[in-house]
Amino acid sequence: MELDFIRSDGISRAEDNITKPMANIANKFPENVPGKYYVDNQCIDCDLCRETAPNNFQRNEEGGHSYVSKQPENPEEERQCKEAKEGCPVEAIGDDGA
Ligand code: SF4
Repeated sequence: MELDFIRSDGISRAEDNITKPMANIANKFPENVPGKYYVDNQCIDCDLCRETAPNNFQRNEEGGHSYVSKQPENPEEERQCKEAKEGCPVEAIGDDGA
């Protein structure tokens, strides 16, 4: 009972969330298919997501950016989309869409 006050690691996690840029669903490109994953307007067209999850991300040639062309439909695609999200250098991929 005396040790309860020591557990305060929630504070550092909260600070991480504030400082780390995140994809914003309000800024997602209209080409994204409906669903969990999307690309927002921070995309710098680096190609990483299209290499990592080629079944799910495509390039908008005119706009010069990526978008989600298909939501993941199996565990392997889900893994690749998650990897793409984590690897995106500008946090332009979100997974909180609907
Ligand atoms: S990894 Fe990120 S910045 Fe690179 S093309 Fe994909 S969404 Fe755009």
